[in-house]
Order: sequence, then structure tokens, then C-alpha cells
Amino acid sequence: MRTSFAAHIRLLKKELPCFFPVAIRRLKLPSHRLGDCDFDEEEQKFLIRVNNALPHYVQKDILYHEYAHALAWAPGHMTTTIHTASWGVAYARTVRLSNGEDSPRRDDVAAHIKFQ
Ligand SMILES: [Zn+2]
Repeated sequence: MRTSFAAHIRLLKKELPCFFPVAIRRLKLPSHRLGDCDFDEEEQKFLIRVNNALPHYVQKDILYHEYAHALAWAPGHMTTTIHTASWGVAYARTVRLSNGEDSPRRDDVAAHIKFQ
């Protein structure tokens, strides 16, 4: 069963909350641009944009990539565009969540199996 884009957003926000709110939009972007993540200083929130012309599975991958930029952001670490080591760690966390490797529900299942 295909998980909806909105469900991926709900999962990310619930399991991996960011320092500031994250607004996520799918919209028409130039064909060379897959997506991006910016921090709106005035509104104090992240804005993630994903190119809606891409296939669904690519949009999901872009979402997890860009969300990692927001997740890696911390005071004194203002960039949302560079693939730093901290972005790499954040991206691993989003991918693990996407794969169900960090899901509390999966941990519950694993614990249940272990004690059977
Ligand atoms: Zn990036």
C-alpha cells in the first residue's frame, strides 16, 4: 500500500520534530529543481518545497532529504542548504524512520517477538 505524502509529513513531524515549525508545499518548480528548504527569519519557520512534477516516490525521497535540513538546523548552525555532517546524521534519522527502523511501533513488535 502506498503511503500518502501527507502521511509521510505527519510521521516526520510526530517522530522527528524540528526546532521551529515546518511548512511543506508541493508545487510547480523549474524542472532542474527537485526541492529545497529555507528558513523564514521573519516568521521563524522552515519552508520545504517539493517539485510536484516528480514521480511520487521521488517526491517522498526529496521530502526526507529536505526535512533533514530542517532537522539538522540548530541555533548557531543557521544553514539549511549545506550537506554537513550534522545533516548526514539527520538524513539517516529520516531514512531510518521512513524504513520503520526508528518507529516505536516496530520496537513494540520486536519486543513482542523477543518475549514470545
Ligand atoms: Zn540538500
